[in-house]
Amino acid sequence: MKGFQKVFGQFQFVVISILTTAVIVWLAASLQWIPADSPVSEEQSPQLPAQPTVETPQELPPSAQSKPTPPLYENLPSIPNEPQPNINTPPTSPIASKPQDFYGHLPYAENDSNRLVSIGDFTRGAYRRTEYLDQEAAAAFSQLVDAAAKANLTLQPISGFRSVKDQAELFDKQVQKRGSQQAAAKFSAPPGFSEHHTGYAIDIGDRNQPDKDLKVAFEDTTAYRWLSNNASRYGFELSFPRSNAQGVNFEPWHWRYVKTSRAAVQFASARNL
Ligand SMILES: [Zn+2]
Repeated sequence: MKGFQKVFGQFQFVVISILTTAVIVWLAASLQWIPADSPVSEEQSPQLPAQPTVETPQELPPSAQSKPTPPLYENLPSIPNEPQPNINTPPTSPIASKPQDFYGHLPYAENDSNRLVSIGDFTRGAYRRTEYLDQEAAAAFSQLVDAAAKANLTLQPISGFRSVKDQAELFDKQVQKRGSQQAAAKFSAPPGFSEHHTGYAIDIGDRNQPDKDLKVAFEDTTAYRWLSNNASRYGFELSFPRSNAQGVNFEPWHWRYVKTSRAAVQFASARNL
């Protein structure tokens, strides 16, 4: 058949003329006349009347196959089911809906005052205040300060342990400033919900850049960069990095000690969010 086709191809135009005549006769006479007997026209004749060139028939099948796409509405049955769980979902945020938390802040017990140890003073002009941490965190913080000093940095303890009573005063001021408890909670924990109650959390500043104390700009200090690279060696980690699971604002100055088992227990809930 191939040999025949080759020969046929060479005389294609002659054959076309003959076939064209034959087709006209065929069309006029009967549709069953050619396919029945002639092996020559069995493959070629259906293409010739519509497709005078050899290449175009190859392009047709793909375009013909691309038409049928029936399963468009297969996803429709699942659509009516989706709004139902959304309607039943409470409008509160996932964080606020968790038990016991307060706009993302978790509850913390106030540490035993007998465990508190001085870690130095916070000074600002004539103002002076002694800061405290749990004895475990205090020992680690001392090592942290010494290591930073070897890197020509002076870490400033700003705020360590804080009682629930002290926190209440801070939070009230924040509510007055921000207008609501919810807004205030973005910047300060309510009493009973501050990591500072544990004695394992501390706000750290750069002694050489006091203007950046307790500000997001603290992340631009050399102290923060050093802490980011070295604090974990001494058991400290940032409590509220950007986009933290609790939804609390980024606080580059606020670090917590987590190395001992007693420390780890304090922050287990927060770290497992
Ligand atoms: Zn803090």
